[in-house]
Parts: sequence; C-alpha cells; structure tokens
Amino acid sequence: NKQIVLKRYVNGFPKETDMLLNDSSTINLNLPQGSSINAVLVKNLYLSCDPYMRARMSPSIGSYIDSFTPGSPLSGYGVAKVIGSRHSNFKKGDFVWGGTGWEEYSIINAPETLFKIEHTDVPLSHYTGILGMPGVTAYAGFYEICAPKKGEYVFVSAAMGAVGQLVGQFAKLSGCYVVGSAGTKEKVDLLKNKFGFDEAFNYKEEQDLDAALKRYFPNGIDIYFDNVGGKMLEAVLSNIRLHGRIAACGMISQYNIEQGEGVRNLSHIITKSVRMQGFIVTHYYHMYPKYLEMIIPLIKQGKIIYIEDIAEGLESAPMALVGLFSGKNVGKQVVVVARE
Ligand code: NDP
Repeated sequence: NKQIVLKRYVNGFPKETDMLLNDSSTINLNLPQGSSINAVLVKNLYLSCDPYMRARMSPSIGSYIDSFTPGSPLSGYGVAKVIGSRHSNFKKGDFVWGGTGWEEYSIINAPETLFKIEHTDVPLSHYTGILGMPGVTAYAGFYEICAPKKGEYVFVSAAMGAVGQLVGQFAKLSGCYVVGSAGTKEKVDLLKNKFGFDEAFNYKEEQDLDAALKRYFPNGIDIYFDNVGGKMLEAVLSNIRLHGRIAACGMISQYNIEQGEGVRNLSHIITKSVRMQGFIVTHYYHMYPKYLEMIIPLIKQGKIIYIEDIAEGLESAPMALVGLFSGKNVGKQVVVVARE
C-alpha cells in the first residue's frame, strides 16, 4: 500500500522533500481486526490538494483541524471506491467522497463523514472540486455570505483556483459585474475568454494594487470574495462601497508566514458599514443536497464549466500540493491515484 508520508513538520513554504513515498506498508484487504465495527475499506482514486493542508503540516497552533503526524501518511479529501464495508450505508462498489488517506487503500473508521456519490454520469474527479468541498465553499460563501444582488460589482482573488472559478461564474449567473485576479497571463486569459469574467488582471504585474482596483472598479466594490488576504485585502478595503460584503474564505498569502501580517485600512469596515464574515465550509454541508440540485443541471447544460489540473500517480502528490503555494495549478489541483 503506497503512501505519502509527512517526514517532518514544515517551516515557511512546504517543499516536496518534506514528504516521501513509502512503498513498504501493507494493508489487509479483508478489513482487519482492530478497525471499527463500522469501518469501510476504500481504494483511493482521486486525491484533492487543498491549501488548508498547509496548516496541518505544522504543529497544532489551536487550529480548527488536527496536525498531520510526522512518519504517518497525510490525509485529506478524496474520491474512492468501496471495496469492503461493515457499515450499512455503504456497500462494495459504491463511490464515495470525503476524508481519506494519501495512499492507495484506506480503512475509514468513521465513514459517517463520507458522502455517497449518487451521480456517476459526471467525471468522478469533480467530487474533489465543483461537486465536493470547494463547490460547497463557493456556493455557501457567495450566495449565503455575500448575498449578491443583480448589477453589483464583485471581485474574486485566486480567481482561477478550485473555488474562485466557481465564484466568478456564480456572480455572472446572478447578473453581477465580476473581475478576478490571478498570478499568470494564462490564467487571466482563461478567466476572460473561457469563464466569462468581465475583466481579470495579473496581480503579480501590478505595482499598486489600489490603483489596479480603481481601474477595474471606478465605482467601487460591492462584494469581495477573499481567497488570499494580505495586501489584496488591504487594497479592497480602500475600494469597498457602502454596505459592501466581504467573504473571508481564505488567506493563502499568509499561510507560509510565521507571524501573519497585520491588515491596514480596516477602519473602512466602519465608515462604509461593511459586513466581513469568515466561514468554514464544513458548517455548510447541510446545503450540499440543495447545491447538487442546482449545479448538476448547470454542468450538464454547459452553463458552468470547470477546469482541473491533473497530476498523474500518487508519487506526484507532494509536487502537486506544494505547487498550490506558488500558483503552479491552473484550476483545481487533483492527483490521480487510480482511475477505477
Ligand atoms: P486554489 O485552487 O485557488 O489554489 C491556490 C491558489 O492561490 C494558487 O493557484 C495561486 O494562484 C494562489 N496563491 C498562492 N499563493 C498566493 C499568494 N501569496 N498571494 C496570492 N495568491 C496566491 O485553491 P482553492 O480554490 O482550493 O482555495 C482558495 C482559498 O480558499 C484558499 O485560501 C483556501 O484556504 C480557501 N478555502 C477556504 C475554505 C473554507 O472553508 N473557508 C474551504 C476551501 C478553501 P495565483 O496564480 O492566482 O497566484
């Protein structure tokens, strides 16, 4: 049972060499004694690379989620096939998504956290992204927290990522004007030409983020879907409109910095009566059935598109995960462990 193991806790930017491929571990494919009475044995097909995993590579600092254990395999979201089950909700042959190990086969001792995949006429890898955790993040964050109204001015950072590409399309479906920022020309072109953003820009080429936002939003920003925090958030605060809303989804620009930077311009929250709200997607999973009802037809009708960046083979997982923090991924970063 090949596994990706965390070698040691990480300081600063994670590196491929912080992880290693262990191919000497074995697994009993008959659900061994010692696994829980409800255990499910799965074959992992697609693993999801997610920015929050960086926090788990450091010793716990009171985070909402446990750290990985050095010497043990990483874990995260994935899509898997059930090959053995003691749980009445799951049977051999079912496809599931949810928490699993970064390895070929995993024993899931608490399968209540798994979602059974009912729609298999869409790419199964989509359950790491548009049909999984990032999809619910974009849906709950945009519709619930940002409460969009037709004609409003929307800005999305890390706009070509797993969450951002969806938020921008939801904003267009809601009749908003939407601008995205991303870190390469290729991503900017995709946002404008494939995803229907009204405008997009490369934040790495802007000397002055405040001036860039003034160029794209001469009337100011009503909604900011924040995936990056830091300097971009500061610039948005200077350009936010009266009664603006900010969904604090993620702050990836701060994840590899020992002491997070302070944020300037916060007083605009008062003077512009802004509502800024953070959220954790797991608190919104009750919305998943409603979200699926909306999104599956949109995918089938081609009204929503989704790009994945596929890394082949478990051994490519460390490189794929680390790449998130330099923007190597174009779209949702997925690792294929097996196709069936
Ligand atoms: P992405 O697919 O967007 O991948 C991360 C992207 O972030 C990179 O491709 C890169 O794109 C950009 N990035 C990396 N470093 C920086 C930096 N220093 N400054 C600005 N941009 C940077 O990831 P997701 O869509 O999965 O996640 C987006 C955000 O949402 C993350 O902050 C994540 O933690 C958060 N999140 C929060 C959830 C919640 O429950 N609140 C749930 C899921 C995600 P680029 O080329 O543009 O630089």
